[in-house]
Amino acid sequence: MFSPSVGPGFPLLLPKGALIRRLLEEFAYEIKTKYGLTFVWTPHVAKSDLYKQSKHWQKYDAMMPPLKIEEDEYTLKPMNCPHHFQVYLNKPWSYRELPLRLAENGTVYRFEKSGEINGLLRVRALTQDDSHWFVPHEMLAEEIHRALSLTKEIYSTFGLKNFYARISSHDPKNFEKYLGQKKTWENAEKALEEAVKKQKIQYSIGIGEAVFYGPKIDIMIRDSLGREWQVTTIQLDFNQPENFNLLYRDKDGQDKRPAILHVAIFGSIERFMAILIEHFAGAFPLWLSPVQVAVLPISDKQVKYAQKIVAELQENNIRTDFYNKPESIGKKIREAELRKIPYMLIVGEKEQKAKTVAVRARNQPARRSLGEGGKDLGAMKLDKFIGRVLKEIKNKSL
Ligand SMILES: [Zn+2]
Repeated sequence: MFSPSVGPGFPLLLPKGALIRRLLEEFAYEIKTKYGLTFVWTPHVAKSDLYKQSKHWQKYDAMMPPLKIEEDEYTLKPMNCPHHFQVYLNKPWSYRELPLRLAENGTVYRFEKSGEINGLLRVRALTQDDSHWFVPHEMLAEEIHRALSLTKEIYSTFGLKNFYARISSHDPKNFEKYLGQKKTWENAEKALEEAVKKQKIQYSIGIGEAVFYGPKIDIMIRDSLGREWQVTTIQLDFNQPENFNLLYRDKDGQDKRPAILHVAIFGSIERFMAILIEHFAGAFPLWLSPVQVAVLPISDKQVKYAQKIVAELQENNIRTDFYNKPESIGKKIREAELRKIPYMLIVGEKEQKAKTVAVRARNQPARRSLGEGGKDLGAMKLDKFIGRVLKEIKNKSL
C-alpha cells in the first residue's frame, strides 16, 4: 500500500508482502553465502562528503536533498558502494584474502520525480541485493563466471527462463573518455563475453554503451506479458578504487589496486517481487506462498479434529489458514482456489474416523505437468502430508 502521510514512492508492505520480501532476502543470504559472499550492514545515512569522494554528489542526479545534523551535512544513501568501500578500508588486505565479496540487502533512497513513480516498479525507497567484489585483475574472468553462475541458479529457482544479456563495452574510436588502460578494458570485456558464452546465455554487445569507469553485463528478463525488465547488473569499476585509494599487498610485496565488481542479482528486491507476482500470476511456489495450506472442515462436526490438524501444521512451521466459517464446503474450496493456496486439506467424517486428511493440490502449470493440478491426491496420514510439504519447501520446488 501507499499512504499519503508517508509520501508517494515510499511503499508500505502489508503482512503477506513483507513475508515474501523476507523470504526473498533469506534466500539471497542463503545462496550468496554458498557462493562465498560475506554479509555486512551499513546505515541508511552518511555524510555528504562520502558521496563527494565517490563523485555521486557531482554526477548522480537522483541524490536526496541533504540534511543537517549538528554542524555536518548528511544525505540518505542512494547507493551502497561507498559504504562498502569504508568497510574495505577498515584494515589492510593481502592478496591471499582476496577476492573479498561484501554483500548487503541495502535500502537506498532516490529522488525520483513524482511523475515518474510507478507502483513497486519505480519507487523512492528500494532495497538492492547489493554486493561489491574486490578482485585482483588477474582473477576477474573467474569471478565474473562465478557471478553469472549465481545469477543462473537464482533465476532457475524461480523458473525464469526467458532472459538475455547485454554487454556494454567501450567505443574504440574514443578511448580518451574512459578511465584506465586500453588493455585492461579489452581484457575485461573479453572476460565478460567469454563468461556469458560459457554459461550459454544469449547476448548482444552494445559498443560504446559503457560508462566511463568500466564495462558491464545487464540481464533482461521478459515477464509473462512479454515486458522486459532489467534485473541483474554485473558492473566493472576501475574508478572507485582510485577515488577511495583501495589497495592490497600482492605476492611481490607491492601495493596494488583491486578491480571492483558491483553485483546485484535481483536488482531491487521490491521490483523483483513485482516481476514474480506477474510471472507466477499470484500462484507462488509453496516456499514463497504466504499461506501454504488451507484446512477445510466439511461440517461443524469436524471442527475439533480440524483444529488439531491446524495446530500440528503450525508446529511444523507450515503457514496455515483455518476455514472454519459456517459455509458450504463448495464455497470454501472456491475461496481457497481463488486465493491460490497450494494445498487444501478437506476433512469430513470419513477422514476423521480414519485419522487422515483428503489432499487437494492447487491447479497451476507446474502441477499440471506433474498430473496433479487441481486434483485430489486422495486421503493421506497427516505425517505423510507434512513430510511431503516440508520436502517441497526445502527444495524450493516450483
Ligand atoms: Zn555498487
